[in-house]
Amino acid sequence: MEQYQHLNAIILRSRDYKEADQLLTVYTREQGKLTVQVRGVKKQNSKLRGGILLFSQAELVVTAGKAFPIVIGASTITSFASLRSDFARMSYAGYAAELLDQVISEGHADEELYLFMLQTLQLLEFIDPWVAVRYLELKVLERQGYVLNVKYCQKCGAKLSGDTHRGVYGGLLCKRCAYEDPNGLTLTQEGRTFLDALSYIPLHRFGWLYVSREGRESVSKYMDLQMQQVLNYPLKTRDFLRQMNM
Ligand SMILES: [Zn+2]
Repeated sequence: MEQYQHLNAIILRSRDYKEADQLLTVYTREQGKLTVQVRGVKKQNSKLRGGILLFSQAELVVTAGKAFPIVIGASTITSFASLRSDFARMSYAGYAAELLDQVISEGHADEELYLFMLQTLQLLEFIDPWVAVRYLELKVLERQGYVLNVKYCQKCGAKLSGDTHRGVYGGLLCKRCAYEDPNGLTLTQEGRTFLDALSYIPLHRFGWLYVSREGRESVSKYMDLQMQQVLNYPLKTRDFLRQMNM
């Protein structure tokens, strides 16, 4: 490592470490996911505290440390202020951060994924947060090699149409093939159309997307099933959102 490094980082998680320190899990543009140590941050006069807000975008200056890189400078680039004042939006941001933290392993730079996370936080400030996190889920799945196919039957290749289809791991079945998976989940046509739209609608139009309560339930259940493919254990923040009916 060079003596000092400047990193563009999104703060995903913080936890106490030693007496007055914190460990941060950050997603950086330059190095992917990293754990860094912030010394003395719990002391009243710490200058670093203001620059490492949870779920903010920050510029970190780090230097090599014994166990972890040490943060010696931190300044906020974007605090996503509208997100901060809203409990529901913060809860969704927590889910986005935990998702990235669990699925992505340390030390692989992925600038695109960094941008997807930034976009998700920007969306979370203003649009329906439920829509924003579905976008990140699709991007994370893609990164892990699961490109969602909501257009064609997984078994026979027929174009999917009509109201409902049985979902199985990795794909959907048309009505004729649905007997293959009699206990499979139903994804409503509305839900399918919504998931498809996320792949081609420009981000600035995401605010226009409307999904009914029934459509949301269907999509949430279907995406839970998809996410199981890449998660090692259930996400606490996802369970929380479910309990809160969010
Ligand atoms: Zn079929």
